[in-house]
Amino acid sequence: MSGLALEDILDKISENCFKTFPLDFIQGEKFIPINKTSEALYLGMVDAGLKEKREQLLSKITQEVNLKPKVIPLTNEQFEQLFESCTEKFNLINKEQVSKEQENTPSPLQPHPQDKSKIPDNNNHNLPQASPPNPQPMLQQDAKPKKRLGEQLIDDGLITQDQLEKALAESKETKTPVGSALVKLGFITLEQLKAALADQQGVNYVTEKELTISDNVISLLPEEFIRFNKVVPIETDGKNIQVGMVDPNNKRALNDIIYLTGLSPKPMILTHIEFEKCIESYFKTKKETEKLMEVISEEESSGDEDSIWSQVEKELQDESSNVAKFVSSLIQEALDKKASDIHIEPRLDHYIVRFRVDGILRKVLEVPAKIESMVISRFKVIAKMDIAEHRRPQDGHTSIKIGDRLYDLRLNTLPVGAKEKLCIRILQPSIRMSTDVKRIELVGATTNDIQKIEIMTTSPHGIIFVTGPTGSGKTTTLYSVLNKVNEETVNITTVEDPVEIKVEGINQVQVNTKADVTFASCLRAILRQDPDVIMIGEIRDFETLESAIHAALTGHLVLSTLHTNSATATVTRLIEMGAASHLIASAVVGIVAQRLLRRLCPACKELYTPELDELKMIVSQSEEMDVFREKGLYRPIGCDACGNTGFVGRMGIYEIMTLNREIRKLITHNAPNHEIEEVAVSTGMKTLQRAGLDAVFNGEVPIKEYIRILGALTE
Ligand SMILES: [Zn+2]
Repeated sequence: MSGLALEDILDKISENCFKTFPLDFIQGEKFIPINKTSEALYLGMVDAGLKEKREQLLSKITQEVNLKPKVIPLTNEQFEQLFESCTEKFNLINKEQVSKEQENTPSPLQPHPQDKSKIPDNNNHNLPQASPPNPQPMLQQDAKPKKRLGEQLIDDGLITQDQLEKALAESKETKTPVGSALVKLGFITLEQLKAALADQQGVNYVTEKELTISDNVISLLPEEFIRFNKVVPIETDGKNIQVGMVDPNNKRALNDIIYLTGLSPKPMILTHIEFEKCIESYFKTKKETEKLMEVISEEESSGDEDSIWSQVEKELQDESSNVAKFVSSLIQEALDKKASDIHIEPRLDHYIVRFRVDGILRKVLEVPAKIESMVISRFKVIAKMDIAEHRRPQDGHTSIKIGDRLYDLRLNTLPVGAKEKLCIRILQPSIRMSTDVKRIELVGATTNDIQKIEIMTTSPHGIIFVTGPTGSGKTTTLYSVLNKVNEETVNITTVEDPVEIKVEGINQVQVNTKADVTFASCLRAILRQDPDVIMIGEIRDFETLESAIHAALTGHLVLSTLHTNSATATVTRLIEMGAASHLIASAVVGIVAQRLLRRLCPACKELYTPELDELKMIVSQSEEMDVFREKGLYRPIGCDACGNTGFVGRMGIYEIMTLNREIRKLITHNAPNHEIEEVAVSTGMKTLQRAGLDAVFNGEVPIKEYIRILGALTE
């Protein structure tokens, strides 16, 4: 059947048969009536992956014409081409309206009065208007004639006729709506397009913030459905579902959403560009990977139970097996995407794989439940864990050599219900720190920041804390400082869990709680070895803190980290952990609180004037708002250079508090945080908020990234 050439089908389509059905019904249901014989109706049909729906439609069609349906499967493209050719050939609507400008044609699915009249009288009364299992009205039909998008943009003075023509040509060639073509050509901004579309269609558009969609919302609709109808679920309150649609007038899709989710859809405009971005970030799966999964599941389902198990075991050990290949391709992909973690998590009937990239988790693919245990077992094999153990959490590690770099992977399993969740942390490759570069280099730090940290490290004893939540780049800062003080004449020892970066010339001790090698016990042992500089990966308990303070007060420089949000909150945390305030005041040299922010892609970031409402979320003073508005800020767009994310890499922002006499005095007297902070700021400390604002002001970070990391101002 699929061998039929399009022209052959087109030749066979009878005008009479085609016109038996209303045009909007044909277009909505994506079928092409081809011909009728005395007992059969031949029709071409696109299968959108909703089988029951199809059955229902077929029975409806045949009820109407009382003929047996004979279906010729069509691809979506074939349907579009046939539909276009037929409407043209049979003069159903004018050519322009058929061109696939969804953004441009307000509602291609609106009934055409002209078509209605052509339906033969004997079989028109019950023809379904779209397909209603649900009688509820979907969209208000806007009766007033709308201006076409291009005309509207010209009238608004945003584009010229010449630009519109260029965009129309581009749109035809790339099969994208004309609005998106205008943006791609740089004639208008995405924001301008969204505003114009919203205006034209009387439907709100999806904001950038709303496009950060959680996985459980995305999974409300099947992937094929999303791709096919260009619909993205945005949010649900359990009753309604907000959906971003490239064509918000696609009534059939809206009806199907009710059918699929049981929720009432509220359409919003989504541009084609944004739709593509969504597909990219939520569904990008490697074809190769999928193929491998298929092969694995086929192999797995052959043979009887016993032999399968022995085969599986052999297979798991075998580097060249398909499971092994799949697992390495997964790791390779994670490294390519510069992911810091791989999560393999059970869902109801499958597993999902997510990567953490630049601090954000993104779903990359689904693993069918059939092969999930093999994949997890393979990971266990390479990490030397017990593959028979499913009920207890396990830790393991392995290294993988890719190119000339050796990556360390740390794996943890966690039993979740009857299944296992696997988390793989990818550690930075071992490096040999250069011994000639003696400067501290931190991405995003100002010269002033670096100077302050360097001065701290010249102190012969005392503790320097680097603080922030997980993933805020503390380790990088610590190593950079270590590298600075790393000299032949200095004895440096670290206690870490895990040893994240291997550094030449430094003694690195790995904590091993099982063997009772703890931070505290290591520290006591290290102190007997007379080190000059000690780095403690993290201070988690009083015992370790006590030893660290003791080390600092007896002539050692100690570097460590804490999970606190600001420099002054660190002081409070130390007191809560049980340290005496006067000991903190004398032992601590300085505190560096930091965060990592995603940096805007310089190739595509876009200058705009922020609205006051947006600015109010990060700035409180109106004079400052004026300055921000006057200068203009930047926001992400997305281009090839940044994989359409709008961001490239990350930058640090730093709040550096050097403990001077006045601050020490305040700490000793248990002064409240804000008082300490005021004094620190008056003696030159830049708060994280200020450093973040500077980054926004300098066009390195958009407002929403600032808010994601540091939160919005609350009044
Ligand atoms: Zn870019």
